[in-house]
Amino acid sequence: MNSDRRIVEAVGLGWDLHRLEAGRPLILCNITIPFEKGLLGHSDADVGLHAVTDALLGAAGLGDIGEKFPPSDPKWKGADSGRLLQTVLEDVKRAGWHVVNVDVTIVAERPKMTLHKAQMRQRLAELLDVGPERVNIKAKTSEGVDAVGKGEAISAYAIVGLGRADAGCAGA
Ligand code: MG
Repeated sequence: MNSDRRIVEAVGLGWDLHRLEAGRPLILCNITIPFEKGLLGHSDADVGLHAVTDALLGAAGLGDIGEKFPPSDPKWKGADSGRLLQTVLEDVKRAGWHVVNVDVTIVAERPKMTLHKAQMRQRLAELLDVGPERVNIKAKTSEGVDAVGKGEAISAYAIVGLGRADAGCAGA
């Protein structure tokens, strides 16, 4: 039995970007952040959770978020991305994996993420059913260049480490 559940056997990378538009709520890592614009998308457009969801799928070798939740399917219109993430997490667990750690980078020119990072970390840990020490949220700007730097979009990167329930048994 892998008692400390810290042995990573697979990693997955996720990236996402959504446009910012007036009149939409800004939701990042399942937290609503006060701002004059929000992210545009078929679901709630939570770039942070979409990057984590893709990283989970990647690490488990289960494809990508677009295959799992096609934007053409009206079922996912306005969907809470926390539900999408938990649906994928169930698939990942069913395939015999558990989450060892997650590291997320949010890239946004505005608003400042500093005040919200702790809350995002807590919420992401809850959604992933792990302790907050397994989750890290980083925030950066894009130095005023490209679409993110000009305030037209927000992007996010995530990397996830997964372990097998039976890891650590060899030689024990
Ligand atoms: Mg997305």
